[in-house]
Formats: sequence, structure tokens, C-alpha cells
Amino acid sequence: MPEVLQGAGVSPGVGAGPVRTIAGAVPEPPAESRHGGDAEAERATALAALEAVAAELEERGTRAAAVGNPMGEEVLGAQAMMARDPGLADDVRARIDRGTGAARAVYEAFGVYRDLLAGAGEYMAARVTDLDDIRDRALARLLGLPMPGVPESDEPFVLVARDLAPADTAVLDPAQVIAFVTEEGGPTSHTAIIARTMGVPAVVALPGATSLADGTRVLVDGAAGTVRRDPSDADIAAARAAAAARAAALEDSTGPGATKDGHRVPLLANIGGPKDLDAAKANGAEGVGLYRTEFLFLDRQKAPTDEEQEAAYRAVLEAFPEGRVVVRTLDAGADKPLAFLPPPGEEPNPALGERGLRMSRRYPEVLAAQLGALARASAGLTAKLQVMAPMVTDAAEAAYFTAACREAGIAHPGVMIEVPAAALRARDIAPEVAFFSIGTNDLTQYACAADRQIGGLAHLQDPWQPAVLDLIAPAADAGVPCGVCGEAAADPALACVLVGLGVTSLSMSAPSLPLVRAALARHTLDECRQAAAAARAARTAAQAREAARAHLPGLAELGV
Ligand code: PEP
Ligand code: MG
Repeated sequence: MPEVLQGAGVSPGVGAGPVRTIAGAVPEPPAESRHGGDAEAERATALAALEAVAAELEERGTRAAAVGNPMGEEVLGAQAMMARDPGLADDVRARIDRGTGAARAVYEAFGVYRDLLAGAGEYMAARVTDLDDIRDRALARLLGLPMPGVPESDEPFVLVARDLAPADTAVLDPAQVIAFVTEEGGPTSHTAIIARTMGVPAVVALPGATSLADGTRVLVDGAAGTVRRDPSDADIAAARAAAAARAAALEDSTGPGATKDGHRVPLLANIGGPKDLDAAKANGAEGVGLYRTEFLFLDRQKAPTDEEQEAAYRAVLEAFPEGRVVVRTLDAGADKPLAFLPPPGEEPNPALGERGLRMSRRYPEVLAAQLGALARASAGLTAKLQVMAPMVTDAAEAAYFTAACREAGIAHPGVMIEVPAAALRARDIAPEVAFFSIGTNDLTQYACAADRQIGGLAHLQDPWQPAVLDLIAPAADAGVPCGVCGEAAADPALACVLVGLGVTSLSMSAPSLPLVRAALARHTLDECRQAAAAARAARTAAQAREAARAHLPGLAELGV
């Protein structure tokens, strides 16, 4: 393996530390596995493993609560109860008494419950994953294999995984994570989004990442996209010095977003919940441009209560009394599955299936409850509440959403533009809504037919593709205010191009705000327009980037 590995840098910053890998699947113990004859000892071993798993889950739950994640505590507490289920223990004992080895007995006993749950309707079926997780933890103990899931560590570490799901990160203590490195995932994957939100350096789409041995020291450069094995002190110092030079260039990056000649472009934060507000404020966000409400629902077996929703929405609205808060209704499905909103059936291509507004139309009571909670949360507050639907395809869907908003008393309904059809016919959709927000992550995925979850397609998941810029242009020109809340807004050069295309606000993970603010402040609106025209005239993503940069001389000062 080379000393320096190259992937895609998706969250800037430099971090060095030991690797901890999220272990892969635990294999099924062989069906014919028998114990040596001492059933009593075998029973004790099996039950001790289940109890150890329960205790560990409980302890992780307590820690999740301590890092401000009551949702994680709830899920882990419920899992601990499953591990201690007396019926399960009886089943394991009975199997061991018939001669089956401890690991196989545990595997089979879980299998019975698994089948029961899987056949007991959609709601219960969603708990199968939780059950499998407990089973795999018990098996890992019994078989002496690495524990699945986020590793335990006494010291901060570089988290290495094939890819990270939102659920993997629910129990992460940000103080423990130095950097993320994943084999899969592109610039818009959840690993990238979570890393930027946490302000942690991250490299994705790094071939062979999971072959890095646990404990190997690595230096991760989230801007360059490199991972250096066994770095020297000099390597670490040089990387840190480069990062510090850039940070210094950003020190004067404060105040509202505007181009050099004073054209205002509000700079807003993408958040997953109230816990992200501190970072948004610290980085000078003027409001929230994308509140991904599904983060409030992830890991839940049922929807949060109306009161819980209202409190979470109110906390965000109260944080920006003078600003705007753009809340997105649930974007369930595909890369953001929610246990209590399962798709109607098997979906061979979930990204093209029931997700976003399509899912809300299937469960209108969930949408109505969310809109009602939002309307109540904003009552009496000064923040401007705007509510938008994800995955809208045409004017009829936009009209449906606007009607639902009006019924709930929401004054500013909008839609995300992330389906190419919606971008192309933005002029038809505009009369139905008060604003647009372009989701460049999905717009790029659909325009380039490149699944955003597949690391090998990262080169096509590139919003610099001229085709993507061609889709943004008509949306920005359709006569309603049009923001961008996809990760493209966080690229300082592309941010200038988006403004040149007519985009009226930019929303991004909070740590990206200072660099984008500084990039805008160094260029006039005219330079942004010229950069946009040059990028659209290019034939490839790389040429578009290069052509735009030729009109954006101030970027060099920022080291980007
Ligand atoms: C997008 O698609 O660009 C977007 C902002 O939404 P998400 O990344 O949550 O799908
Ligand atoms: Mg999207």
C-alpha cells in the first residue's frame, strides 16, 4: 500500500491519529456447530455474552445522552432490553441443552425473533436491524471477532469505514473523532455532510481505506483528499501550517454575505437540528437555509410527538429572530430511510422510488402533523419561517404542497429543485410557490445518473458538470427567489458561479461559511457573472472549473 493514499477531500482541515475501523459483518456460525459436552459452562458463556452486550449498549446510551443525543439513548436503551429478554435467554438455554454450540444457539434463537418481527407488519419489521445488531455484537464476543459498529476507544481516533450511515454517527462523541476516512461515498454522501457539520476533516472514495490496520497512525488532509501513513512530525507540522495559513486569511471574513460591490447574498446554514445552532452562529450564519428535519426522526421507531417536533422547530426559529429559517419537510426514503415510513414495497432503485414529497403524499397525516407543529412553533416569533418540500417533480406536486402548507397556516411555501424535470420547467412551478431552493446534491445525482452513495462515481457527482449548471440557470431565472442548499454552495469558486447564475442565497454546512463569505467579498457581481458564463460555455466539469477560476482572481489569496 503506498505511503500516501489519494481520495476525495470533502471536509477541510488536518488531523493525525490512530485508525479505528468500523468492523464488517459477523459471519454466521456453522449450522452443525456443537459444544464439547459441558452444557452448563456453554450456557453460562452464552448468557454472559448477552448480558455484556446489554450492559455495553446501556453504557453507550448514557454516553449518547451525555453528548446531547437523547434519541441515541432511547434506541440503545431499547436494544439493551431486547438483549436481556427472558424468552430469548430460555431459547438459547434450550438449544445448548440439545448440544448446539453457544454462538450457533444465540444465532438461531435470534433467528426465531427475527422471523416473528419480520412477519409482524411494517412497524415491527423495521426493528429487525436493531435485533441483528444485538445478535452480531453477542456473536462477536463469543467468536472473539472485532465488535461491529462504531469502535470503542480510550483516545481520539481517525474513524475508517466502508461508508458511514447517519445511524452510525448518532452515538459519536465529536471530541473523540479526529477525522473520517471512507472507502465509499462521494462529496454529497452523508459522511461528507456529517463531517462538515461536525467541522471534522474527511476524505471519502479512498480505495482500500478499510485495509488500513487498526492502530496505524495516519495524517488526514481533508482539503487535499490525502491520507498519509505513519507521518513524521515534520509532515504533520507542514500540513498544520498550511491549514493555519488559510485560517488566517479568513479572519476578516465576518458580516453579512455580499459581493465586493455590495450585491447581497444571504449566507445561511444547513442544520440537522438545534444541536447544530452553535456552529451556525459561530460561523456567522444569517439564518438557516436548510433544516433537514429527518434527523429528528432517524433511529425512531415512531414519529416524534407533536410537542417534541414543535420544541425542536421553535428552538431553531428562536435562534434567528431577525433572520429566516427554511425548514424542509421529511425527506424520507433512499439514502435517508426512516423506520416508521417504509416504502410500499421492494424498490430496486430507491433513489428513484418513494422518497421526499412522494412519501409525504403516501403518509399525508405525517406531513400534516409536521406542518401543524411548524405553524405552532412559529406563532409569536419574529423569524421568517419558510417551509419547503424535497423531491418535487412538477407543478402539480408543488401545488399539492402549497395547499397543504396553506391549510396548516404556513405563509411561505417553497420547493426544492433537485429533480432535472423541475429545473427544466421551473417556470411552470414558480407561480405555485414563494421560493425555490436548489438541492445540487440530488440534482447532480439525477442529471448525471450517478448514485451519490457510490464512491466509484464521485467524478460524476460533480456539480461543476456544465449540464448541472445548465439546469440551475432556468431555476434561478424563473421569477422567484432561488437559493442553493446543496453542497455546491460550500465550494468557494462554485458559490461565486452560482451567484453569477442569479442564485439569491447560499446555504451550507456551517464550517464552510467563512471561506465562501471571503470568496464572495473578493469578487464583483460582474466577475461572478463572467465566471458563470465561462463555466457554462465549457465542455467538461474540469474545464468549467478552470474557466470560472480565470475570472475569480481573489481565490488565490484564500489558498483555494
Ligand atoms: C440536496 O440534494 O442537494 C440537498 C440539499 O438535500 P440532501 O442532501 O439532504 O438530499
Ligand atoms: Mg436532496
